[in-house]
Amino acid sequence: MNRARRPVIAGNWKMNKTASEAAQFCRDLKARLGDPLPSAPEVILFPPFTALPAVAHEMNGSAVAWGGQNLHWEESGAFTGEISGRFLAELGCRHVLVGHSERRALFGETDETCGRKVAAAVRSDLVPVLCCGESPVERDAGYTLSIIQAQLDTALMGSAEIPVVVAYEPVWAIGTGRNATPEQAQEVHAFIRQWLAGRFSPAFGAAARVLYGGSVKPDNVADLMAQPDVDGALVGGASLDLDSFVKLVRVPSA
Ligand code: PEP
Repeated sequence: MNRARRPVIAGNWKMNKTASEAAQFCRDLKARLGDPLPSAPEVILFPPFTALPAVAHEMNGSAVAWGGQNLHWEESGAFTGEISGRFLAELGCRHVLVGHSERRALFGETDETCGRKVAAAVRSDLVPVLCCGESPVERDAGYTLSIIQAQLDTALMGSAEIPVVVAYEPVWAIGTGRNATPEQAQEVHAFIRQWLAGRFSPAFGAAARVLYGGSVKPDNVADLMAQPDVDGALVGGASLDLDSFVKLVRVPSA
């Protein structure tokens, strides 16, 4: 972690928590967090779409932000079952996940659709949190960095600087209980930062936040975030439990 970049702790709830369960979690979270310290990390919740209004209602005026787990690349139209960036922005979202590995593996998202979604997010004034990461086979074959490069090349086309957060989420670490070692994470994060510096500018690369995701828990977050290029965590399972999420939020400012 580099103190010049504000750390981020983000919770990806996936398809968990109804609106009322989400509202209760938010009330409890507010009570547990109290008044945030100036040095506290930026906290972002990514609930299911149906829980966004409840989260917005509960967290309005707090230091905690919320965002969507996905968006469509068009603003509106005949896209049954889809949600656009404009809908998310109206609910007070400031961020949106793009290209989570579950969306890539289960719902056919590609680097190309991720690129369209990144552009759509920016058009709606949302900060895309672009997820990238290699499969276990790709890591074992030594292709990790070239896979990350290909994912970034296609999803972040063009040279115009855009507000973007990148989340490195090795597929073999998501929901498996097997997190990347701090050194493995650092190697890829440094590569992502270098890529961002090359694509946009050195200042952009230096300021960009790169999060790690994959089995982050209260007992491993500090070691991961001690790495110079790890600016925070995108957390799935451990963000669903109030105690562990509160611990995760507290660690970066400890
Ligand atoms: C995720 O869903 O982005 C994730 C990292 O999940 P988990 O923390 O459960 O591995």
